[in-house]
Amino acid sequence: MATPHPRRCNVCPAYVYDLVHERTRGLAPIDVDPVREGGNIIIDLDRGEYAVAGSGLWRHLNHFVTCESAAAFRGHPGAVRARRARL
Ligand SMILES: [Zn+2]
Repeated sequence: MATPHPRRCNVCPAYVYDLVHERTRGLAPIDVDPVREGGNIIIDLDRGEYAVAGSGLWRHLNHFVTCESAAAFRGHPGAVRARRARL
């Protein structure tokens, strides 16, 4: 598999990799930049995969968690408000 290229999130300026989960093969946007603390994802760009690994230093986060419009992804009531606010 070709090394994934970062892309811009559809709703915020962040860069993400679209990677598949090592076992479920589910596609998820993973933040390109790791965080010093609080991340729980290890990425393997050669394989285009990510794995949830528990918390550790300099791990990545699922962009669904960090996106400034994360509520919109999850369909929370707040997401509806956010969408309306942009209309
Ligand atoms: Zn985003």
